[in-house]
Amino acid sequence: MTGLVWVALDGVGHPLDAPPGSAWEQDLPTLRPLVEAGLALETTLGVAGLPQSGTGQACWLTGQDAVALMGEHFGPQPGPTLQRLLSAFSLPAQLKAAGGRAALLNFYAPAYFGEQRGGRNRMGCFPFSFHAAGLPLNPPDLPLVRASLGLDYAAPWAPFTSVQEQRQLGQEVAQAAHGWDVLVMDLWFSDLLGHQGSPEPRPEVQQAASAYLRRVDALLTGLLDGGAQVILSSDHGNMEDLTVKSHTLARVPFAGAGVNLGHPANVVEGGRQLATLLGLN
Ligand SMILES: [Zn+2]
Repeated sequence: MTGLVWVALDGVGHPLDAPPGSAWEQDLPTLRPLVEAGLALETTLGVAGLPQSGTGQACWLTGQDAVALMGEHFGPQPGPTLQRLLSAFSLPAQLKAAGGRAALLNFYAPAYFGEQRGGRNRMGCFPFSFHAAGLPLNPPDLPLVRASLGLDYAAPWAPFTSVQEQRQLGQEVAQAAHGWDVLVMDLWFSDLLGHQGSPEPRPEVQQAASAYLRRVDALLTGLLDGGAQVILSSDHGNMEDLTVKSHTLARVPFAGAGVNLGHPANVVEGGRQLATLLGLN
């Protein structure tokens, strides 16, 4: 068992490409040094337009150029083409076929499953890939993680759990990781906050973005305290620049603890490196 924990941030650009005053500019004693010791990966893959989560996450999950496949940046949810790619080549599908063990730790409320009935797919790439691989959402007997890391899902995104609890959760996940090849967290809340950006400063959004990165920092602290091997990634920029409502062209972090990051330059190569770390290449 590889025992890897993959913290997949959504919509967090690298601090090197963040404007002054971003949420990166605060005391993040575990997250910041980890990111600075890692790489900054390109997300556009030479295609015009702003990177999107459907194609970006599919690149991470498959190590294939999902943007070239689509001919554009596409998302947030995967449509039929990306669904086929993910069903055949996603990390959980490949691991399962190789006899490995992967789990998605996100907690999904009962209402989420109601939204999935009928009609088009509303699942993001992560839950779609695990579900398509025949792996359960809300896996039993594992610590589950809320994408907001204990912040309210509605403005002003007030905390409902302490920062300390996120650290505790990180330790629990590190413990649980021993029996698994990879445990994954799809932390999409940063993208939700990033879409609240605006040219006029909104202090409550800036505070929530800062609070969220402090919670990612606490979660990582717990993971490292617990001795976990960790990979941190992001699909595209957004929350690092709250002066705009949209995604950004910022490079994204690819960082790790106790793992060989290799030399990827973009999110496709990052996805390939992740597969290599899990013995899939
Ligand atoms: Zn978005």
